[in-house]
This record gives sequence, C-alpha cells and structure tokens, in this order.
Amino acid sequence: MNTMDKSMSLTGQPPKALNTGQKLATLIGMSGLGILVLNLFNLDFENSGLWLSIALIAIFAGVVWFSKAAYAHKEKGIKNDGVWFKSISSRGVLAWIAGIALTGFYVVLYFYPQYLGLVKDGENTGVIALFDPLSKLLSGNPASQWFVYGTLYTVAILAFGIKFMWKYRHNRYEKIRTVSVMFFQTAFAFIIPEIMARLNGDLPYYDLKNMWPLNYYNFERYRINGFIENGNIGLAMLIFGILSIFVISPILTYKYGKRWYCSWVCGCGALAETAGDSFRQLSDKSKFAWNVERWVVHSVVVFVTLMTTAVIYSYLGNDSSKYWLTKSTFLIGVASILTLVFAWVMIFKRQELQKDAKYGAIGYFTIIIVLIGMHVFSGEGNIFLFKSESLRKTYSFLIGSIFSGVIGTGFYPIFGNRVWCRFGCPMAAILGFQQRLFSKFRITTNGGQCISCGNCSTYCEMGIDVRAYAQKGENIVRSSCVGCGICSAVCPRGVLKLENGPQKGRINPTEVLLGNDVDLMDLVNDK
Ligand code: SF4
Ligand code: SF4
Repeated sequence: MNTMDKSMSLTGQPPKALNTGQKLATLIGMSGLGILVLNLFNLDFENSGLWLSIALIAIFAGVVWFSKAAYAHKEKGIKNDGVWFKSISSRGVLAWIAGIALTGFYVVLYFYPQYLGLVKDGENTGVIALFDPLSKLLSGNPASQWFVYGTLYTVAILAFGIKFMWKYRHNRYEKIRTVSVMFFQTAFAFIIPEIMARLNGDLPYYDLKNMWPLNYYNFERYRINGFIENGNIGLAMLIFGILSIFVISPILTYKYGKRWYCSWVCGCGALAETAGDSFRQLSDKSKFAWNVERWVVHSVVVFVTLMTTAVIYSYLGNDSSKYWLTKSTFLIGVASILTLVFAWVMIFKRQELQKDAKYGAIGYFTIIIVLIGMHVFSGEGNIFLFKSESLRKTYSFLIGSIFSGVIGTGFYPIFGNRVWCRFGCPMAAILGFQQRLFSKFRITTNGGQCISCGNCSTYCEMGIDVRAYAQKGENIVRSSCVGCGICSAVCPRGVLKLENGPQKGRINPTEVLLGNDVDLMDLVNDK
C-alpha cells in the first residue's frame, strides 16, 4: 500500500485520535450521562440521591479530565489547532447528531415535560424523580423540569468553565471573566432562588441577575401581586427589578460596555462562552447575516416592549382617585420615556448613528403608533382585538422558548454559540444600542502590527469582521460586540485591546487621505 503523505500542509496534520486520558474521560462523562438517560426509561434506581450524585460527579469529572488531557501538557497560548478537522466543531456528522439531540431535548423540556417524568399532582417519575432529593434539600419542594434543567445548566457552566480557563490560561481577562460567570450562575441563578423559595414559598421565583426584557414575565400581574403581598422583601425585589433597568444597567454599560452583562453576568452568555466555546468559529461573518441580525433583534425589542406594555396596561385601572398609576398615565409615561430617548439620540448622536438611526426611528414610530392605537381602540382586558394574554403567550412561545432555547442553544454545533445573543436577545439589543452611542468601551487596534491572519474574525462569536477594522487601525465600536475578548486572546500579534476611555474620538472611521497637505500629526493627535 502506498503510504506516501500527499498533504502539502506545512504545519502537518492535526492529531486524528484522542489520547488515552481523553478516551477514559469520555467514558466516565458518558456513563454519567447514561445514568440520566436510563432514568428517562423509568428504570427504578433505588437510591436516587446516590445515583444523582454519581451521575453529576461523573459528568463533571469527565469534562474536567478531558480538558486536562487536552491542554495541560501543552504550552500556554492559542489552542484552536484542528477545529476545522474535527467533526463536532466543523458541522460534521457529530455536530448534526449533537444539534438534533440538543434540539430534541429542548422540545421535550419546554413542551412535553411529562416525558421527563413530571407529574403534576403526584410523585415525579423518570429523570425528574432522580433530582427530587437535591431539590428537596435546597428548596424543600420536589423537582420540576426547570430544576433539572437549571442543575444540568450549572454543572455544564462549571465543568466547561474549567475547560475554558485551561484553554485560555495565557489570558488573565478570560480567566477572571470565566470565574465571574461561574459565580453568577451558581449563586444568583441556582442557589439563591432555591433558598429564597425555602425561606418564603410565596415569593415569586427571582433570578436576581436577570432583568427585563430578558425576564419579560417580571411585571405580570401575578408576580407584581406576589411581590407586594410579601412585605418589605417583595417590595425590595420589585424596586431592584426597576432600578436594574433604569439605573444599574445604564451606568455599568456606560462605564464598561455591554460586556459587563453579556460576558460577565448573564446565564445565556455564560453557557455560550463555556460549553459553546468549541463552536464560536461557526458564526456567520457575511454582511447579509449582519443585516438580518439588525432587523431581527430590533424587531424583538419592539415586540417585547409592546407585549410588556400591553400586559401591564391590561391589569391597571382607570380610576385616578384610587390609583396614581392608571391605564392612561402608564401609556403616557411609556411614550414620554421613549420620546426623550429618541430625541436625545437624534439631537446629540446623529453624526454617529448612520444606519442605526433608521432602525431606531422605525422602531420608535411603530411603538408610538401602537401605543396611541392601544389607547383609542382597546377595551377591558384586550389590546386591539387581541387579549394581552395571547400576546404574552405568543412572545413566550416564539421568543422565550423556540428562539432562546430550541434554536439558540440546540443549534450551537451548527450556527455557533451566540445565535440567541446576536439575533434574538432584546436585552443584548438595548445594551448594544447604548454601547454604540453612550459608552466608554471600545476595542482599539494597533493596525501596523496586524498580519491579516484572520484569527480574530474567525473566532468572533458575534460574526464581527474584526480583521477589517484591525487592518485600517480603526476602533471597533459595534453594538453586537459582547466584549468576550477572544479576538484579543487569539491574536498572535497583540493588535487588539479592550479598553474603556473618553468618548471623544471613540468612533474613528479611517478617512482616505488625499493631497499633499495632510498633516499626519493632526490625525495622530486627534485620535
Ligand atoms: S469583537 Fe472581539 S470582544 Fe467583541 S464579540 Fe467579537 S471576539 Fe468578542
Ligand atoms: S488583528 Fe491579530 S488576529 Fe486579527 S488579523 Fe490582525 S494579526 Fe490576525
């Protein structure tokens, strides 16, 4: 047989097989997953607490050992060798199998939890029953499908977070950022809400790091009643929810850009950055995708604003002698806030807006016209011809379940790890709007050092063509940039730097220089 290597690659071929450590780790991780799958078929595991511990520890240990075997013996530095040769990270067969399995899991989770073993008025069965002991330990209640999901989600972020830190251990920013997302997921999203449920079962479930519009349900009637009826603690949570939208988030986004949330705090971002790290190169970098992104994500913002307004409007009263907040004052309030923001942007930021102005203007006028329509045409409990409840259900189904879960996470191995954050998340869109217009954040580029290798663009999970900016020496100030810092971490020349600085000169599209009288020093000083 002819064994001659016909490859013309200068760097040689990537390793085809896993090393022994990785194989053993895969076996351990898979056996943990196997225990969960067996429970789906209602096999009777006598001591569920013990079996759950074994399963979770095996999954966690499998991922961590795999990562150690993959990275520990290598030098620190960029570790993306072979990604386009591996089936799982290059849309190969394994990627499709994983994508279909994950999507199937989400469909069952959202729409058919009974197949996971959820029993409404009785003892849970199946895989949900396996999680009962842990749920009872934390909150005192039996597990639900959301508890199972929350636990697996947290384990995935912790295990893949360790993998991520091993992989990017040459970069301090990445290590600290990952500790942050691991902490916020474990404490704020998982443990604190469960303990709060144990201390006061009537308080609405509240993941304190989630804010509107991500938790679009936060201002529904049953939740507002739940907050108000639970005294000071409930009221404090309600006030915190409002302050986080109007005070905390704008201040932090002004100082640090949207990265403070999308890459340091948010649970969706946490999963994307850790478990989804192997798929970041799959993001679409085309201009077409950029256009789709802007239309879709801003439409979701309009949708969620209208839906929330409609839901709150539907339960407010008309009698101003009883309540200070009536239907009309509420609508006028929403319209005034939007008008103030729009006018401020148009007056002070017009120059920097370019295309964004168009999207902002269309969105603004759509909302205002619908608000006026609401006032004129709506009756008790309905907005136009629709019930506000149907609007909420449609949003919850289309955006909350299908987009964020089934497509956003289920298709990590096919579309990349930030599909939801880029195309669907209204929170990211609002933060992005502020990041572009009113923030100190930018990625500076030392263009003279760039060798146009394209690593930065390839590994930008938001599909930003970072290299195009670097080649021109232009600052990157894009609404969609989540400040993950990976472009900078994989740049072999140290061209890119994430910085917070004065707003003057932040957006600096590089002008074409013509003529003989250009004073280059003026340009440098202006930068
Ligand atoms: S431009 Fe860089 S920091 Fe921003 S999202 Fe892309 S890779 Fe992350
Ligand atoms: S900025 Fe760095 S990673 Fe990007 S193309 Fe230039 S040298 Fe490569």
